[in-house]
Order: sequence, then structure tokens, then C-alpha cells
Amino acid sequence: MSSSEAVLDHVNTHSRPSDLRITDMRVAEITGAPFRTAILKIYTNQGLVGLGEVRDGASATYALMLKSRLLGENPCNIDRLFRRIKQFGGHGRQGGGVSAIEIALWDLAGKAYGVPIYQMLGGKFRDKVRCYCDTDADRPSGTAMGLRLKERMDMGFTFLKMDLGLMQIADVPGAVVAPAGSLEGYRIHPQPGLSKTMEERRAKNAVYDVHNVRHPFSGLHFTDKGIDLLEQYIHEVREVIGYEVPLAIDHVGHISLQNGIRLARRIEKYVPAWLEDVIPWQYTDQYRQLQEATTVPICTGEDIYLKEGFEPLLRSGGLSVIHPDILTSGGILETKKIGDMAQDHGVAMAIHMAESPIAAMAAAHIAVATENFMALEFHTVEVPWWDDIVTGLPKPLLDRGFITVPDKPGLGIDDTVDEVLRAHLQDGVTDIWQPTDHWDNEYSWDRTWS
Ligand SMILES: [Mg+2]
Repeated sequence: MSSSEAVLDHVNTHSRPSDLRITDMRVAEITGAPFRTAILKIYTNQGLVGLGEVRDGASATYALMLKSRLLGENPCNIDRLFRRIKQFGGHGRQGGGVSAIEIALWDLAGKAYGVPIYQMLGGKFRDKVRCYCDTDADRPSGTAMGLRLKERMDMGFTFLKMDLGLMQIADVPGAVVAPAGSLEGYRIHPQPGLSKTMEERRAKNAVYDVHNVRHPFSGLHFTDKGIDLLEQYIHEVREVIGYEVPLAIDHVGHISLQNGIRLARRIEKYVPAWLEDVIPWQYTDQYRQLQEATTVPICTGEDIYLKEGFEPLLRSGGLSVIHPDILTSGGILETKKIGDMAQDHGVAMAIHMAESPIAAMAAAHIAVATENFMALEFHTVEVPWWDDIVTGLPKPLLDRGFITVPDKPGLGIDDTVDEVLRAHLQDGVTDIWQPTDHWDNEYSWDRTWS
């Protein structure tokens, strides 16, 4: 044994990090925690397995198609491998593959060296991660919603979010002006799964197309009656929950900048923590107009891939809060960089998250290791088996509205619980961790310049 190997024997390593190699990549495609997601495992030659997760609603293919570019590599070279694959990610769900892999590489590096991810990022700014409870708009009145949010406060949540917008008033006569028939498409979402006929495929694609019309072109407008109803809703919510707790607002609907401004001004007196995704994030100048027209903090970011996607918005002054999803943004290191960049512009960072404890822990490591952090989304209060997906974490992971990051290597998770995953397979999926050999030699001459 060489002297350097002898030294390694006294270091708290679970492996020989320099000789660690990626040997395989597999997925478990599940649903209900709370949405459709693919949990990712990256395997190595030393028995270490890294965990990642492909974003809610995204295809596992976005990760698996990158397997051939990672086999045989040392997963500890996180940034180098990230830069190799980052051209294969995109905004929204298309960032899901690159981000899932980046997280699994951090988990492997942490396990290989015996260090928590937050420590590799530079250490802690805080011990506990404040979570905000997201609550979908499934209550008919503001009072009923307020009572539901009050229950969340009683559970310990110190930060809340709810929907307020088009879908709450779409069925009220005279509340929304819409081109005839156009509202129908918003009532249903594109569904995954098998299509039996060409007609089914066409119907599914038509729904997809409706949801991909950008807001300025939807032709939807709130009437004064519609705005009155939305104001009444948030008024009733505040009557129940009071003003001590921050309340963010999401899902305004595919309305124009001008309607967004009208709504924002009407709800200023209810002091929202932020108003989210009022218009597509691509319209930098419209964001600036929106923020300049209201005192409500304007927020976007869950569909933006990479730091450079956030930069124009931050420079424009169009945002008060950014809201990256680390499963779209490019993963752990990229999101820390995004948070630091936002801090330089005086813009706060909250983090979007709607997946399993794997995504939650990846976000939590960033949240403790980035100075610019306000709150992390929590979307699974109603999913009793959410904590059972993995072993090795405190149970429940969310304790009185906060997540505590353990001092364990990598993400801090020991393993997945396969019986739980098997009980929640997506339609058409027959089992978990199936061989992915057909991706081993995927190749094309991808260079974005010549
Ligand atoms: Mg949102």
C-alpha cells in the first residue's frame, strides 16, 4: 500500500473518490407525491448510489438520454460533467434531466467524501429551512380557503401561498371576457398515458396547444365584477388568517399584462408576499412595467433554466422575488449562483418545489447554504406516504413548518423504499429501476457552434 493510500484509510471516506466511476443510471417513475415524477439513481463501481429527481411533469427521457455521456466518468467532477450536459436542458420541464443528474452527482460526491452537500457549498447560513405551504384553489369561498390556511398555520407553517385568479371566477357569468369557447381548454390539463386512437391523440394535443398560448395572445380579460370577486376572496382569507403571516399568490391565469396590473393594484392592501407568474417570464420589459405599476412584489422563475435565464429580468428591475425550481434551474450549484446574483440586485429568493423528499432535501441544502433565501415550497401536506419514499431522514421531515438538514453525507438520504415506489407507479410503467441499456450508446455530434 502506498503512503497516499495509507492516508486515505484514515480519512472518513466511504469509497476511493478518485477511482469512483459511473456505471449505470435508472429511474422509478411514480405519481401522487404530489404529481408525476421520476426518481433517478446513478450507480457506481464502488457500490455508492446517487439520488436525483426529474421535475414534476417532466419525462424521465430527459435524464436517461444523457446516460451515454456520463458512463465511466468520475461523478465527483460535478461542474465539469454539468457543463458537458447542460446544452441538453431547457426551460420548464426540459431542464429536468440535467438538473436531476446534477443533484445525483452532488449526492455521490458527498457520499464519497463523507460530507453533507451544504458543507461542500460553503457551509450554513441557518439550521432550519422555512417552508411555505402551497394550497391549491379548491375552496369556493375566501372564508373556506382562509379556514384551510388557518389549519396550516396551526400545523406550524409560518408562510403561506394560495391561488387567486382565472379558474376561481371562470364559471361566474360576467366575470371574465373570453373569445367564445377558449375557456374550455383551460378546464382540463394535458394528460399523460396511452392514446388508443388518432382522435384521442389529436384531442390531447389540442389541449396542449391551448395551454401553450402565451398570455398576451389569449384574449382573456377580467371584468370589474371578476376583479371584485377576486378582491373579495383575498379579503375573506385575510379576515380569517390575519396579517401576521406572509401570503403569496399564484395561478392568476393566462391574462394580459394590463389585467395583471389591475388585479395587483386591487390586492395591494392585503399585502401579498408576492404575485407569481402573472405573465410569461420571457417578457422582460413587461415584467418591468408590471413591477413599476404596483407595490405588490412581483415574482417568477420556476420555469427558468440556468443563471443566464434570470439575468435579464434581474437587470430590468422587473422582479422583487425570484422563485427557481432547482429541478429546472440546473440543479444545486447553479441555483446557489442564481441566489447570489439575485442578492446583488436586491431581489429575494424563494424556491419552488413540488416533488418527493429527494427534491426537498436537495433544495434544503441550497436553502441553508445560500444567504439569499426566504422560503421553500411544500406541496404535500395531504400525501400521507410522502415521508415513506426514503429512509434515513427525520420523520416527519417537515416539522412545524421547517425542515432541518441532517449532518449526513450527500443529500442525507440512506435509500428509497421500493415497496412504496411500486405502490405508486405511473400508468403504463411496469416496475422500477429497470435496465436502461438501450441508452448506453446514444450519440450525436452535438456542438452548438462550428
Ligand atoms: Mg407557481
